[in-house]
Amino acid sequence: MITVLRIGHRPERDKRITTHVALVARAFGADKIIVDKDDEKLKNTVERVTQKFGGNFTIEFNDWRKYLKDYNGKVVHLTMYGIPYEKKIRELKKEKDILIIVGAEKVPREVYERADYNLAVRNQPHSEVSALAIFLKDLIPEKKFYGELRIIPQEKGKKVLRIPSREECISLLKKYGADERLLKHSIKCSEVALKMSENCNVDKMLIEAGALLHDIGKTVVKGIRHGVEGYYILKNEGYDEILARFCSTHVGAGIRKSEAKKLGLPDMDYIPRTLEEKIVCHADTLLAGDRITDIEEVKKYYIEQGLEREVPRLERLHNYLQKKCKKDFMELLLLNK
Ligand code: SAM
Repeated sequence: MITVLRIGHRPERDKRITTHVALVARAFGADKIIVDKDDEKLKNTVERVTQKFGGNFTIEFNDWRKYLKDYNGKVVHLTMYGIPYEKKIRELKKEKDILIIVGAEKVPREVYERADYNLAVRNQPHSEVSALAIFLKDLIPEKKFYGELRIIPQEKGKKVLRIPSREECISLLKKYGADERLLKHSIKCSEVALKMSENCNVDKMLIEAGALLHDIGKTVVKGIRHGVEGYYILKNEGYDEILARFCSTHVGAGIRKSEAKKLGLPDMDYIPRTLEEKIVCHADTLLAGDRITDIEEVKKYYIEQGLEREVPRLERLHNYLQKKCKKDFMELLLLNK
């Protein structure tokens, strides 16, 4: 647990600087910030960013002397008077709990004495925001954030993906006239997909939305074209390609280009590529309506449908996901209860 302790916060003067300290702490992978003076506005700003952009970062207000006295992990004080931080970074990477203190105005001498390490980011005066960013960037590997908004890095332009909430997905299904059966299947698919990804470092919010919407095309057409129809519905509704692809990539265990051509489907990619797409596709494969089947039953069904050529790919996907998600999917059958 990496905690930042901000001391000397003066709400009227340091509003922006303390906000920046908190945002840097969050973006560079710390878990929590303690600020020594109550500031409701600061709390709201930090919580709003975390809600929108993801992560479990928290903000707390506490008496810094008391907090420091009771703290059990290693204490790092960032100060221009310390030794170069580069000398201690390898040692600190092995620690479980670290408290990083940054000041505002003059920091009391007792902090220099209490710290296990006084560390400098160059021995020149600059700012707590820059010192904290540089130090955390070297201390913690980059974290993934899964919030309502995802930044899709662009060399040119600007792209942000918004993930619709569960409620929004269900209203959209209803808007397109989804019947009770389709709603039940879609909800079950999201439960199965989330269960499959429990132990996996994946985007669970995206999985939930993708699973809820994967069959929206069935409101327009049954049969193999429903994937591509769903893709068009979501694109027309203004959702991103990333979400729309859950519709076009979930049919079968994905459809190869040559096969898609034979089936008269438009020329696009029907293979689930990302781990999230693979999980939703396979969750759907393991479902018959809202009942979970097992892989043997699915294989039998494929053979009955004349799809025996697709069975090896289905098996490969099943084994790959079991390994990747560190999970025995047989236990999914318990969800039938
Ligand atoms: N003279 C002040 C002091 O007592 O250290 C400097 C205040 S400075 C504006 C605010 C904070 O920035 C400091 O408390 C320290 O945490 C951080 N800081 C500034 N320069 C730093 C440096 N070279 N290395 C590490 N931290 C620094």
